Amino acid sequence: MKVTIIGTGYVGLVNGACFAEKGHHVICADINQNKIDQLNDGQIPIYEPGLAELVHANRQAGRLNFSSDVEAAVQASDIIYIAVGTPMSPTGEADLTYVDGVAETIGKSLNGYKVVVNKSTVPVGTGKRVESIIRQHLGGREASFDVVSNPEFLREGTAIKDCMNMERAVIGAESKQAMQLIRELHEPFNTIIVETNIETAEMIKYASNAFLAMKISFINDISNICERVGANVVDLSYGLGLDSRIGNKFLDAGIGFGGSCFPKDTEALISISKNVGYEFKLIESVITTNKNQPIHFVQKIDTIVGSVAGKKIAVLGLAFKPETDDMRSAPSIPIIRELISRGAEVHAYDPVAIEQAKLVIGTDVVYSDDLLQTVDGCDACVILTEWPQVVKMDLDEVKKRLKQPILIDGRNIFDLAEMEKRQFVYASIGRPDIN
Ligand code: NAD
Repeated sequence: MKVTIIGTGYVGLVNGACFAEKGHHVICADINQNKIDQLNDGQIPIYEPGLAELVHANRQAGRLNFSSDVEAAVQASDIIYIAVGTPMSPTGEADLTYVDGVAETIGKSLNGYKVVVNKSTVPVGTGKRVESIIRQHLGGREASFDVVSNPEFLREGTAIKDCMNMERAVIGAESKQAMQLIRELHEPFNTIIVETNIETAEMIKYASNAFLAMKISFINDISNICERVGANVVDLSYGLGLDSRIGNKFLDAGIGFGGSCFPKDTEALISISKNVGYEFKLIESVITTNKNQPIHFVQKIDTIVGSVAGKKIAVLGLAFKPETDDMRSAPSIPIIRELISRGAEVHAYDPVAIEQAKLVIGTDVVYSDDLLQTVDGCDACVILTEWPQVVKMDLDEVKKRLKQPILIDGRNIFDLAEMEKRQFVYASIGRPDIN
């Protein structure tokens, strides 16, 4: 099948590569000329394991092309995916500017029957909105089309694996013809297909992310109680997760969720609810807990170090999770800002996210992609992202390089008994401190 994907970001590029790998002919289109030039030069603008190999192989096979001529890309395919960003607007709802812009371009370029598929995470009603914008821009031309919702569930860091082995494809459509076409597109993925209407498909995405965010805030709240009663949240999560009704995933206490999806999608769901006169208090609490968690963590650092003012603090990990360079809503941002505002000198390590971090956190931080150099001469070391490099770091060497052997672990990486044996002052989340 011929597929055009508009928006060549984390979702568009990964989907483009995966559709191509399954034998479809794909054009990834983007208005960012620089990105398209990079891709045409064989460079990958984002960090995502396995993506470069898949992109190169499918370009060579002639199934994957890149273009900044979005109109021509629309005309060249039968299926048009919208995969542009839907960032959080200042009032919390999803900003649909980019989606509207793409709908306009599609309307202006339509040259025959097409299925327009919305992959961006969008509020209920956006399918109808896209349809209406396309219609307004047809300019009297006879062109038929159908709009479909096919939300995305991949996770950054494991995006290729998630896409190639998708657990389900949710397809929301009113037209039988469009439903059948998008079903066929997904046939090579051999996955469970959920057929529904557009509104339900749009809601499934928000419900999924809100549920996962709720699990994280739940376990973070539990971890805060554990700290006060002397319980251990890691053992607790294990005991809790063995109940198959609960499951053991997404029960790791930490410094709160971040990334390009959960923070904005929980806020957007609250806006969706408000617009229909419903107060979604549960998700409001999920957001509050998540905003408090980084501050709670800085207070912990402050207490253990004995005020961070004037202290050199090593921060290990900036990206919101391992194996990505994505800094959008990373918990490292409020934590580092708070440390700096309390007078700390921050030295930060990350293997891939430094350039992105500089854009959001700024230059008040000493950045390095050398872990040991970062901890050298610091008063304490703080873990924010469980990068494999951090999980496997040489603890003896880290201890030698620190002024004091203080490790404050926001990801519960290390074993308490091990840290006691190594004579670290070790604090983590929801577990007893080791002094
Ligand atoms: P992104 O910011 O990485 O990429 C968006 C791309 O769209 C950019 O390259 C931008 O230049 C391009 N673009 C904007 N306007 C355009 C236009 N008019 N024509 C052509 N290109 C245009 O975004 P992303 O992270 O890939 O997310 C895309 C959507 O998928 C969002 O709605 C997001 O919520 C959703 N989503 C993201 C993830 C994720 O992990 N990143 C997972 C599931 C769903």
